[in-house]
Amino acid sequence: MTEQAFDFIVIGAGSAGCVLANRLSADPANRVLLLEAGGRDTSPWIHVPIGYYRTIFDTRIGWGYQTEPEPALNGRRIPWPRGKVLGGSSSINGLVYIRGQKEDFDHWRQLGNQGWSYDDVLPYFKRAEDQARGPDPYHGVGGPLSVGDSARHELVEAYIQACIDLGIPRNDDFNGPIQEGAGYFQLTNRKGFRCSAAVAYLRPAKKRPNLKIETGALVRRIVLDGRRALAVTWRRDGMERTVSARREIVLAAGAIGSPQGLQLSGIGPAEHLRAHGIEALHDLPGVGHNLQDHFQARSVYRCTRPITLNDRVRSPWQKLLMGLEWFVFRTGPLTVGAGQGGIFARTRPELATPDVQFHIILFSADRPGTPLHPFSGFTASVCQLRPDSRGTVMIRSPDPEAHPAIVANYLAAETDRRAIIDGLHLARRLAQTESLKPYIAEEIEPGPDKTSDDDMLAQARARGSTIFHPSGTCMMAPASNPMAVVDHELRVHGLEALRVADASIMPTVVSGNTNAACIMIGEKCADLMLAAR
Ligand SMILES: Cc1cc2nc3c(=O)[nH]c(=O)nc-3n(C[C@H](O)[C@H](O)[C@H](O)COP(=O)(O)OP(=O)(O)OC[C@H]3O[C@@H](n4cnc5c(N)ncnc54)[C@H](O)[C@@H]3O)c2cc1C
Repeated sequence: MTEQAFDFIVIGAGSAGCVLANRLSADPANRVLLLEAGGRDTSPWIHVPIGYYRTIFDTRIGWGYQTEPEPALNGRRIPWPRGKVLGGSSSINGLVYIRGQKEDFDHWRQLGNQGWSYDDVLPYFKRAEDQARGPDPYHGVGGPLSVGDSARHELVEAYIQACIDLGIPRNDDFNGPIQEGAGYFQLTNRKGFRCSAAVAYLRPAKKRPNLKIETGALVRRIVLDGRRALAVTWRRDGMERTVSARREIVLAAGAIGSPQGLQLSGIGPAEHLRAHGIEALHDLPGVGHNLQDHFQARSVYRCTRPITLNDRVRSPWQKLLMGLEWFVFRTGPLTVGAGQGGIFARTRPELATPDVQFHIILFSADRPGTPLHPFSGFTASVCQLRPDSRGTVMIRSPDPEAHPAIVANYLAAETDRRAIIDGLHLARRLAQTESLKPYIAEEIEPGPDKTSDDDMLAQARARGSTIFHPSGTCMMAPASNPMAVVDHELRVHGLEALRVADASIMPTVVSGNTNAACIMIGEKCADLMLAAR
């Protein structure tokens, strides 16, 4: 069935896709279609911030990916949650609002990507933002994405003081002039609720007559007419439809969905496509390569005092009180994100900027998404910010429903192993300061008997996992780079009327959580598309 044409078709209603749908349809003259494989964001657990702990592995609103057995992680397959719902991964993420380092974007520019230096992208971060603290040279107000503070807690204060004891400064704004330091995370929250990309950008736009939002719409392929992207074929309830775009198609299906979508459309490494029964229409070797993710290893502590979330969830009365507190005041433990406190630190003094990030999490569990420990506990998770290891996302079937093969290749590079070892040592040193010692009854993980570099690496290999930031699989780079997929205007090299805008275009993953950068990418791409005639 072929439907009438739209001006723009956006594939994927995630962090970047929601921004695009909103900005492209702001002009009533543009007819915009947004296609999302998942459903509407009706689950209440999406909107209560702590709900991510319940939704993270829920395959009714997520893709439920997992990696291939990871060679450096004792052959373990790592679960890779990705949102499959309006808002995409921003509907199931940990809400932490971090943009990355100024130097990340200046590096993108150095790689030949005009228009992506920090000075170029800062206006887009600010345009997106509604900063609860008010405007300043680094922050905007009045944008769709609400950003607010985390609640204060004595354990975070103790961590901040422990950092100061070790010479790491206090930092009250990780998205200000300098990222380095210890402080509280800001969250994408609004009056006690999650502010996903769908809440921020789709809600205000969904009644526009020129924006059509289709959910449950799995895109099967992009149809090419010679070098030009012409239409999109998608399926719902067994019925296939094709819809054409008068101006442009933009793929915003995320770091897994976008390379998979290109490969299924015959755009990608020709040999690999042919081997899986796909006609190679446009040989683009980089599609699905350059995969980067932030790898985390955790230190877990038993706390001397009943001040962690573990203590509150054990008691039905406390649970009721927490629920009531949120219901009446929109405050309390239900409003917390994936970490209340954060630390950005350099594991080696010769580094110019932080190479590790800590999430200070005021609860503990065996693994994310599992029941909290039956004792008072908290977690310091350390992740390396700029991994050298590279992986791949490659189709293994012409069936769009089949998950692609994901090889993260964690800890393949020596720099990555070194940073995670040093990060775990830093966590230990922090725990031994006079400021934190009074709160620690026992180190549960890695455990007090684990002291050497080998012990720390063994801990990372056995227990480490993703911090959910896959990026880079449709790399933005000039055509001179043989692995380039999109140019600096996010147009697929060698094709017309087709762009990619999401985490996959990052040449290198930003040094921090990735949601804010994906929203910035959506904002910038919308401007580029509206300017192109
Ligand atoms: C559990 C978890 C916790 C996280 N915590 C944080 C955090 O605290 N802070 C932070 O900054 N970042 C966090 N992140 C990362 C951040 O949310 C993501 O990097 C960001 O949302 C990615 O945006 P995107 O636009 O690239 O893709 P996504 O938001 O993943 O959107 C892609 C969309 O495309 C849809 N799609 C895919 N394929 C198809 C298809 N074939 N047809 C139609 N639709 C399709 C998907 O269903 C999805 O809705 C977290 C992520 C996860 C999963």
